[in-house]
Amino acid sequence: MTTEIAPGVRCLATTKRDNAFLLDGDEGYTLVDVGWGSAPKRIEAALGSLSDIRRVVLTHAHPDHVKGAAELAARTGARLFIHAADAPWLAAGRVPPAGRAGFAGRLLDRVPLVHWTPVTADVLLRDGDSVAGAGGLRVIHTPGHTPGHIALHYEPGNAVLVGDAIFNRAAELGIGPAALAADPAQRPASLGRLPRDVAAVGLAHGDALRGNDLDRYHALLDRWETT
Ligand SMILES: [Zn+2]
Ligand SMILES: [Zn+2]
Repeated sequence: MTTEIAPGVRCLATTKRDNAFLLDGDEGYTLVDVGWGSAPKRIEAALGSLSDIRRVVLTHAHPDHVKGAAELAARTGARLFIHAADAPWLAAGRVPPAGRAGFAGRLLDRVPLVHWTPVTADVLLRDGDSVAGAGGLRVIHTPGHTPGHIALHYEPGNAVLVGDAIFNRAAELGIGPAALAADPAQRPASLGRLPRDVAAVGLAHGDALRGNDLDRYHALLDRWETT
C-alpha cells in the first residue's frame, strides 16, 4: 500500500508496522530504507516495477531497515547511501555487541533472523550533505539510536523522514526503548536537530504525522529538548 504524505513523498508499508518511503526526483526515484528481506517483493508489488529506483538511502543499519537492501541493490543497480558511522555495521551484516546499550538488545542481535547479507555502501553520508540526484534531500545526523542514524529533510515537499528517532506505536509518540539504542543519552540532542516547521513527518514505524497531528510532534520535541 502506498500513501502520499507530502508532494513527491510516498509511504510504502513493507509490513503492517514497517515503512519505507519513495521520493520523486529528476533522476528516478529515491527509496528511503528498505525493510526486512521480504520488502523488495512488497515494494515491487506496490510500484509495479523496481526499475526506476536509482538510489537507496538507509536511515541506519538495523535489520528492519536494511535486510532487503542487498537484494534491492542487486536487482536495480541503485546506489546505496548510509552515514559513515553505520557503514561498518552494514558491511558486517549485523549489529555489533557494542551497538546496543542494554542486555536485551545484545541478546536480540544473536538471533540469525536479525542478521543480513553484508553490503558495502556506495556513498558515505555526513551531516549537512545533500543526497546527489535526489532533488533536494538533506542529511541530518541524529546519533543515539545508532551512531550513524540520520533523519532526511525532503525540501521540495517539506517532509522530514525521521527513521527510528521517533516511534508512533502507542497513543503517544515515543523515542523507543533505551536498551535497543546504541547511546540513549544522545537522543534528546538529536531530536533538537530536527526541523520543526514541516508539512509532514514520516516515521519508519507507525503512521505519518500531518495536519493537527503535527502538534504531537512539536510536543514530543518540546518534552525531550527540555530534558
Ligand atoms: Zn532501528
Ligand atoms: Zn526500525
